[in-house]
Amino acid sequence: MTDNPTTTEEIAELLVYLGRATRGADAGSDLTAVQWTAMRFFARANQLSRTPSAFASFNATTRGTASQIIKSLMQKGFLVRYQAVDDRRSVRLDLTRSGQEIMRYDPLRDLSEAIDQLEGRLRRALRQALPALAGELAKIRGTVAFGTCGDCRHFSDSGAASYCACVDAELAPADLGCLCVNFAASESRKATMPNHKSKEIS
Ligand code: SF4
Repeated sequence: MTDNPTTTEEIAELLVYLGRATRGADAGSDLTAVQWTAMRFFARANQLSRTPSAFASFNATTRGTASQIIKSLMQKGFLVRYQAVDDRRSVRLDLTRSGQEIMRYDPLRDLSEAIDQLEGRLRRALRQALPALAGELAKIRGTVAFGTCGDCRHFSDSGAASYCACVDAELAPADLGCLCVNFAASESRKATMPNHKSKEIS
């Protein structure tokens, strides 16, 4: 990497390039890029968020398009829908056994491997910057930002138990790394990002 100043536009282009590169890998697999996105979402979202409308928000698409994608994955036997216990009007989706099996072939694993190769300081910086960036983008667009408990202002941890103030419930350890539709970025985790477009970053 050079020490040349980088503009915010260049960072945005790099993010798009990475997105495109992973989509290219999706193209050679059994599922389309958008079907992989749905599979990843339902594999990583917490129970409250595994709904068609939450997936529509996550994928920045209409509810109708989201339903079509979900239907195609149900027909392939990768997703199954069930009635929510806490809300009879709502449906939730889970990965089937075959769905869990196909996630072993997720084309995104190359990118995960590349991230693993980064030096620890760089990985931590990415881990902090990307959720903050997703939050800023959601704010600009007036959409929902997805994130996980550790970055959320509803989250607290007493040491003995983890708690979510949004749903007024204790969280199981397995919930902590899940994507959540009720996520609200914690003030302390927000990046201080300028509003103007071409700020140089050395
Ligand atoms: S703490 Fe935040 S991210 Fe975690 S379950 Fe509650 S609302 Fe969702």
